[in-house]
Amino acid sequence: CGVFGVIGVTDAANFVALGLHALQHRGQEAGGIVSHDPESGFNSARRFGYVRDNFTKQSLMETLPGSLAIGHVRYSTAGSKGATQIRDVQPFFGEFSMGGAAIAHNGNITNADALRRELIERGSIFQSSSDSECIIHLMARSLQRKVPERMMDALRRVEGAFSIVAMTRTKLIGVRDPLGVRPLVIGRLGEDGWILSSETCALDIIGAEYIREVEPGEMVVIEHGKLNSMRPFVPQQSRFCIFEHVYFSRPDSILGGRSVYETRRQIGVELAREAPVDADLVCPVPDSGTPAAIGYAHESGIPYGMGIIRNQYMGRTFIEPTEQIRNMGVRLKLNVNRALIRGKRVILVDDSVVRGTTSRKIKEMILDAGAAEVHFRIASPPTAWPCFYGVDTPQRDKLLAATMSEDEMRDYLQVDSLRFISLDGLYRAVGEAEGRNPKCPQYCDACFSGEYPIEPADMIEKGFEM
Ligand code: 5GP
Ligand code: SF4
Ligand code: MG
Repeated sequence: CGVFGVIGVTDAANFVALGLHALQHRGQEAGGIVSHDPESGFNSARRFGYVRDNFTKQSLMETLPGSLAIGHVRYSTAGSKGATQIRDVQPFFGEFSMGGAAIAHNGNITNADALRRELIERGSIFQSSSDSECIIHLMARSLQRKVPERMMDALRRVEGAFSIVAMTRTKLIGVRDPLGVRPLVIGRLGEDGWILSSETCALDIIGAEYIREVEPGEMVVIEHGKLNSMRPFVPQQSRFCIFEHVYFSRPDSILGGRSVYETRRQIGVELAREAPVDADLVCPVPDSGTPAAIGYAHESGIPYGMGIIRNQYMGRTFIEPTEQIRNMGVRLKLNVNRALIRGKRVILVDDSVVRGTTSRKIKEMILDAGAAEVHFRIASPPTAWPCFYGVDTPQRDKLLAATMSEDEMRDYLQVDSLRFISLDGLYRAVGEAEGRNPKCPQYCDACFSGEYPIEPADMIEKGFEM
């Protein structure tokens, strides 16, 4: 998901809409905005579909007045069952004795089922099926008076990944979980404006200045033009999601002080060193494989070409929730540039192999177009474990790499070769010259290594074996 918040500018909701539009790649199912102004109080709008199709209408934006607003774009993950209902769309809002608060959450709470059961037994009435709603109920039960303190109370009981943007009548609040699994950054707009955003690309769209990241385990409270920083949690070594660098974030964003594009290009360089092959053409599987393909071509000296063309009007295949749509999706979205491919030995570079659906279809399309050989090079290690921290990987038995070795996957996909970047190669590409520290890994890489930095309590209860 993507979260965005603005304080201290006129018609804050318009800025939030633009910010969410720039974060659309983080969630395409639905979006919502809550704003506050002294006259009309809190207002909210939640809609299915793209930001640009909803939050551009003047009639809707007029209902969201005020100089303080937050928003969310949704992509449903692990906990969610079936299709999204509008009541699952964030931000969530709660009215407490000392005034209301709205929250927008990116990440996934790993003890949400247990918390929900406990809260329901003690009288909470849940409105949605979302794990994030727990936070509002825990806040409501807190004996603290002020919202930031209530939030600290609530979040100390929550396990998992959370980057949260919240607001009261007068404050904009940002928090990251102690491991800092999901991103969250701070920006400034003009004299008085402050921004919180999942990624820096959403600061650029409104001309805001990037200040810094909210640090892992930090809570920032912005009020009257000033930012206050707090440390509500026991300090821990951070474990940022390495897959944000590979796929999830936009290439024009800065993560941990590094250009995502540059990291991805460097992954391609590492991949070319680790897994060279004689070929005539390096093609990205667009768009997610593009920077790595550029790096691979540069390092190998093999020409780069656009052998696959993407239809700009389709969303991300993976994010469409049902299997059937996903299966069709590849052809709706990608087509082969036959004139370029014919007779060539082609290296295809993609960011990841999950179920193998994309790779299978693409291989068929490339061979149909007359390619002489097809070699896959993948910009992440084999995805062998599900993510429980906010990325929608399927259950373990659906993951190709959970049951097959690299060679078995190559045979299954019927390609001439298939190679994944090593975990150490990936760590080098994100700037860890020594590679992965096995005693104390610098990132979360559980979907590749199976080493979960936060115990997925709900999933273990449901029978998941680590
Ligand atoms: P597959 O077709 O193997 O199931 O999925 C791999 C494709 O899904 C890749 O092209 C990748 O770009 C895309 N993808 C989209 N969202 C995600 C995600 O959240 N996780 C992973 N691993 N791949 C994703
Ligand atoms: Fe990121 Fe993978 Fe960890 Fe999930 S399991 S947070 S996708 S590195
Ligand atoms: Mg892709």
